[in-house]
Amino acid sequence: MRAVEKPPLIWLNVLLFLISFILAVVITPWYGYQQGYAIEHWIWLVVAFSFCNLSITAGYHRLWSHKTYQAHPVLRVIFALGGAFALQNSALHWSSDHRVHHKHVDNNDKDPYSAKRGFWFSHIGWMLRHYNQDTYNDYANCRDLQKDWVVMWQHKHYLLLAIATNIGIPLLLGIVYQDIIGMLLIVGALRLVLSHHTTFFINSLAHIWGKQPYTDKNTARDNGVLAFFTFGEGYHNFHHIFENDYRNGIYWWQYDPTKWLIKSFHYIGLAEKLRITPQIKIEQAKAKQALKRAIDRLEGRPDNTLIKEALNKEFEQMMKKLNDYFELKKQIVEQKRHNLVEKYERSLLLIRYRQLRTEFKAQQKRWNTVLAYY
Ligand SMILES: [Zn+2]
Ligand SMILES: [Zn+2]
Repeated sequence: MRAVEKPPLIWLNVLLFLISFILAVVITPWYGYQQGYAIEHWIWLVVAFSFCNLSITAGYHRLWSHKTYQAHPVLRVIFALGGAFALQNSALHWSSDHRVHHKHVDNNDKDPYSAKRGFWFSHIGWMLRHYNQDTYNDYANCRDLQKDWVVMWQHKHYLLLAIATNIGIPLLLGIVYQDIIGMLLIVGALRLVLSHHTTFFINSLAHIWGKQPYTDKNTARDNGVLAFFTFGEGYHNFHHIFENDYRNGIYWWQYDPTKWLIKSFHYIGLAEKLRITPQIKIEQAKAKQALKRAIDRLEGRPDNTLIKEALNKEFEQMMKKLNDYFELKKQIVEQKRHNLVEKYERSLLLIRYRQLRTEFKAQQKRWNTVLAYY
């Protein structure tokens, strides 16, 4: 039997990844050993790295691919420049690929970087060959973005912008600090390689390593360690189920600087219409997934029918409390907004609300204890 032939290599990409990698891991340390680097090299490395990655996470990903908020043109231009500096193709192309990834996640024939094809393929392999040549220039799933002049301007001048930022910025810094080669290596090559691979980890590692608190219908995982290196994108399990949420790490303690950045832009008027998932939907998904996992764990146990029944009953009760609590919460917010009720009525509602909240928390605690037991 003849092996399936692989599509031809994209030599430009192969050489680009290979040369930048060699420059970053061999030439950069060697030059440092010979000439030494100063503090400004490292400061600018962090600044440029953050600029690139945040332009991808807050711009390419959460703004353009998923429309989780709306951004002022100034901000969009900044993201377009940072995206070109990150050298990950135009925002239009990136978003188109990414929307296909969400729509057909894990489908080896359709998902452009399907994690089911292995670590190497989802990390970088998918960019090394002409896998999707027929649909390469098909942006039908991004008609909305084609109306954004910043997206189209960047797409049209992508090559020029990519060269201007990747060579221009390190060169300028090199002239200012009188070390052109040093800056080209640190802010040029090393920054690019770090920025590339940390972003690529979201397609590879974030689909392999971590927990699945919300769904196991796809391979996406939540991982705090990855979130640290990816400006918050490590909470990928949440992201794949609630992709229209501007947050990936939804709890205050979850490290999601992209979320904090978007919120900060909102405060100064550069971002608006930030979308979040209703809390009730998040709680429902979490409880459903926990029930499913508990039932799976019980498989094979002889006495499992009764336990399953008890678990399901507990789950129903939990869902009921959850609905009652969030329904009342919604009512209170609505009434407050429209000033619908008298003061004394509102205080009655608030008492009921507090009571329901206590009941819900108790039910939730009970539910967690039951889950921990099985
Ligand atoms: Zn996404
Ligand atoms: Zn993904």
